Amino acid sequence: FPCEVIRNFSIIAHIDHGKSTLADRLLELTGTIETKSTGLNQQVLDKLKVERERGITGGPSIVMDLLRFAAQSVFQNDLLTKLSMIHMAHGKQHLLNLIDTPGHVDFAWEVSRSLAACQGALLLVDASQGVQAQSISVFHIAKERGLKIIPVLTKIDLPASQPERMAAQLQSTFGIDPSEILHISAKTGQGVEAVLRAIVDRIPPPSGNINSPLKAFMFDSLYDRYRGVISLVSIQDGIIQKGDKIASCHTRKKYEITEVGVMHPEEVPTSSLQPGQVGYIACNMKESSEAHIGDTFHRVGALVDPMPGFQPSKAMVYAGVFPVDSNDFIKLEESIKRARFHIRFSLTLTDRSVTIQRESSTALGQGCRLGFLGTLHMDVFRQRLEDEYDANIIITAPTVPYKIIYKDKTVMISNPTEFPDTSDTSCRVKQVQEPVVNASIIVPEEYMGEMMNLCFAHRAENLDHRYLDSGSTSEASARAILTCTLPLSEIVTDFFDQLKSRSSGYASFDYEDGGYKASDLAKMVFLLNGKPVDALALIVHRSAQHEVGKKWVKKLHKVIPRQLFEVPIQAAVGKKIIARETLSAMRADVTAGLYGGHYERKMKHLENQKESKRKMKRIGSVDLPQDAFFDILSTK
Ligand code: GDP
Ligand code: MG
Repeated sequence: FPCEVIRNFSIIAHIDHGKSTLADRLLELTGTIETKSTGLNQQVLDKLKVERERGITGGPSIVMDLLRFAAQSVFQNDLLTKLSMIHMAHGKQHLLNLIDTPGHVDFAWEVSRSLAACQGALLLVDASQGVQAQSISVFHIAKERGLKIIPVLTKIDLPASQPERMAAQLQSTFGIDPSEILHISAKTGQGVEAVLRAIVDRIPPPSGNINSPLKAFMFDSLYDRYRGVISLVSIQDGIIQKGDKIASCHTRKKYEITEVGVMHPEEVPTSSLQPGQVGYIACNMKESSEAHIGDTFHRVGALVDPMPGFQPSKAMVYAGVFPVDSNDFIKLEESIKRARFHIRFSLTLTDRSVTIQRESSTALGQGCRLGFLGTLHMDVFRQRLEDEYDANIIITAPTVPYKIIYKDKTVMISNPTEFPDTSDTSCRVKQVQEPVVNASIIVPEEYMGEMMNLCFAHRAENLDHRYLDSGSTSEASARAILTCTLPLSEIVTDFFDQLKSRSSGYASFDYEDGGYKASDLAKMVFLLNGKPVDALALIVHRSAQHEVGKKWVKKLHKVIPRQLFEVPIQAAVGKKIIARETLSAMRADVTAGLYGGHYERKMKHLENQKESKRKMKRIGSVDLPQDAFFDILSTK
């Protein structure tokens, strides 16, 4: 296939707007797959049964979508071949490559990465729902990457669909000309032919020149035990063949190509890769650390400008993970590493972005501090680990990275235990800053008040709103978009759940990085019998310190088993005690079953731990079963 008949595109949409259904329909229409039942969805969903059996059932559809994405990525091979369609147009066969992207803000980096291999995108909007938060964020990423956008309103077969109104929304939100909008139903197939035509006619072919110096863009990599790193590349210019000597723009290291090929769906060696083609290269690259996603390869001696790379993804949410039984540490660390690396067929492509460091805690022993791209990312990874460990791990409360500005230096911290005592005047801290996000929420107008309250309760600033449309006179109410800045720490816990429940599920929410902002924060420490428990330290905003202190002290009181003596449980900020509860001494005749917390949880634990002895931790003079931490940290 010469360059001019190739079209690389992706479908961008809010969750549940019908991306997979449209993809299936396109594959069917082009004869790539026969019927829906043998379609990609089915295949991918089959793979996901593994996940489902391991407990991720009926999760929010966003999680399912993410997993689906991860699964598809494992078949990146398939992705680039099975999702390659051949379509006749203007008397010529065209090769249409559908490249998948995740639809979630945590993975903006991956979205950007996938879109880098495309020249166009279908912006798919559900004609009964209209523009939602993720429609907007993915639209902007596509726009920034200079992609040709084909607007598509789908589900027009639904009685509740309002294509005219939604077309007006697309116009007012994105400046899209309504005459460019395609109206389809991916379910009935109505209008889907026109989508194929639009892909061929409106999206430009990849613009490469085979005679220009080689420019190969690395968008992913795999590790092969025998051949080392296999890079997945898209060829922008020039040609690449076995025996070529190439160099990385990023590391300047030189390599010799030992194999090139395409994924079909397994690796099939070919004689060369040419502009517009996507394939793999093997060279003598030994270490995964040499592979930089977003790197550009060029021929040795023929320097080129690197392709715009990517900002490497950076962790925005951190949590400590500890084994309940400290003998399990090595096993835990190994499985974290395993889950984190991109091993083929492991369904964990995106988890490579999890950062990992060893951490030790006096209360919990040896553990790992993990960094995640966002909360969804954390939840999925955590689910994976918990499934594997059957509740035998303890995960500390999530924290965001803080910037501590001293007179002479700035320090980033991702663990509350490292947070300085700002009330101590000798500590020379000039300012503390926390990450904030620019958030947008789209809701029907009747929920505006509730959403504003929710935002204010989470320290929102710069609150603003405007209407996306005026609704229709009959049943549909107007839609508003509410924007504000929110501290990231305020949305890492239950913000999303609250947003959904307080809007009856109607609100859609998205955010982007908003940098750092000065904030009045302090470290809260919990003391048992006067001794601090490091694993429980928290960073709180001073305006909320009393409320948070009281809540946690109550919770501790509930789950800590009684001792032979009275134990004060205190929350402190600096030297000041903010809240206190007292655990009364146990009576002499009480000998067993002191373990507090929920009965069912307790039973589960006892079952899980029949074999292993209960590990007691001594904090000061208080004996604490290690799994009490599990209860403290796992109940909201
Ligand atoms: P995705 O999350 O964007 O991949 O969405 P899916 O393709 O999984 O579709 C979400 C839901 O919308 C599914 O229940 C589909 O059956 C349904 N759906 C998708 N396209 C259409 C359509 O054109 N008409 C109707 N009535 N339902 C559709
Ligand atoms: Mg889908």
